[in-house]
Amino acid sequence: VVRTGDNYLQSISNRSKVEIYVMGKEVKDVTKHPFLKPSVMSFKATFDAAWEEDTKELGRAWSPFLEEEVNRFNHIHRSPEDLAAKVKLLRKLSHKTGACFQRCVGWDSLNTLNIVTTMMASKGKKEIRDRFVEYLKYVQKNDLALAGAMTDAKGVRNLKPSQQPNKNAYLRITEVTKDGIYVSGAKANITGVAATEEMVVLPTRAMGPEDKDYAVAFALPTDSEGVKIVVGRQLNDARRMEEGEIDGLPYFYNHEGLVIFDNVFVPMNRVFLAGEWEYTGTLVEIFSAYHRQGYGGCKAGLGDVIIGASADLAKQIGVDRASHVQDKLTEMIFLTETMYSAGIAASLNAVKMCDTCWWVNPMHANVTKHLVARFPAQIAQLSIDLAGGAVGTAPSEWDLKNPKLKEYISRYLQGAEDFTAEDRLRMIRLVENVAMGVAFQIESVHGAGSPAAQRIMFSRLYDINFAQEVAKKLAGRKSEVKFTPKAEPWRDSQSEAEAKEL
Ligand code: SF4
Ligand code: FE
Repeated sequence: VVRTGDNYLQSISNRSKVEIYVMGKEVKDVTKHPFLKPSVMSFKATFDAAWEEDTKELGRAWSPFLEEEVNRFNHIHRSPEDLAAKVKLLRKLSHKTGACFQRCVGWDSLNTLNIVTTMMASKGKKEIRDRFVEYLKYVQKNDLALAGAMTDAKGVRNLKPSQQPNKNAYLRITEVTKDGIYVSGAKANITGVAATEEMVVLPTRAMGPEDKDYAVAFALPTDSEGVKIVVGRQLNDARRMEEGEIDGLPYFYNHEGLVIFDNVFVPMNRVFLAGEWEYTGTLVEIFSAYHRQGYGGCKAGLGDVIIGASADLAKQIGVDRASHVQDKLTEMIFLTETMYSAGIAASLNAVKMCDTCWWVNPMHANVTKHLVARFPAQIAQLSIDLAGGAVGTAPSEWDLKNPKLKEYISRYLQGAEDFTAEDRLRMIRLVENVAMGVAFQIESVHGAGSPAAQRIMFSRLYDINFAQEVAKKLAGRKSEVKFTPKAEPWRDSQSEAEAKEL
């Protein structure tokens, strides 16, 4: 099934059981609340994309599970081309929203569970695989909006889940009954969660046997009893309450939330891990690489928005032909296309994990995310350079609209005569909100794992012994080159010893 954006809006408006807080107050209708509306509209764009001419083809895919077309955001990748289509779709969606559209985390969670439950089935846990396939079909059939909830509160970072003074610093199974499990704890920084219908909850790190109560993965409706969502603040967020149409982020945005689980019941048919600690390391590695690959699409798309806005602003003040301006735009293009190229490489060099499942290339996915942790800051700096000081000092839209000031502001904010002061103010606000926003600056650094996490993966994945053999041969040393590729740690679930090390 491929739902329309309006159908999605209807489904998440006025939910009586949902418990969502924004700035200390409870919100029932996320579609009408000024703080959350831009985020809802951004999520909605992922549904609309499956109907709009320019993205229809990319926005849909054929599901062998249902034998019908589904929204690509709920699709299980079946080829390297499918993975590349993801990156292309994300880039195009960034053009439509200028923001993070929040639906990819749930998508990556489904693909991760698809691989992990296939591994589990091969080791005698076919029942869990069947549960997952049933859930996947339910999601595809109803074209649900999913969140992926992974990051725990984490407490003291150098202690394992079971060693924490706060027993619930990591989400924990508190009771198992024949019908299901009870969980308590919290998941932090969960992208888009208030705008979703369901959450897919995954463990955030590799665990050992002593942490088995924390090895938990499941899916749950967002409005389940005992679930509380606390939406986080963002730079300039109160502007949304002003009801303006230039300053107040009237278009699209994203949000993150703290999701609290207060003794929440999860029925057994939605539980995918309950104590199977030996799959946690593999699961985290598979998920993080999937999400790191996607950044090559969405962040490149935001790069395009910023390049366009910067070029337009340069034109508005008549400096577009200056060589230093051209040079800065060229640098922004290079940075943007580099992120995208890495995402495409991570897709087309994919790893086949089972007959019908494809994972991204883990090295290239980690490279993609590491570029994304660095380049957006450089792109933003160049955009500030090109936008001029006005990007930090321009008057508000309310000044422009004040009859006593309108004429003056119109005259003094205007540059070249082909453009109005309002044209300039709108473009300045776009640069401000996109280039310096949460998705492009903070999320680029910390989303899908902070930069140090990628560097750990580089040294784990790169075969430095092989490189030394290559160098030795070229240098004329006698030793033989052994073409033994490094073992692929994700192929098998990790051993107990490995888990202890982590
Ligand atoms: Fe999707 Fe990018 Fe947002 Fe992650 S940051 S959810 S990949 S748009
Ligand atoms: Fe993210």
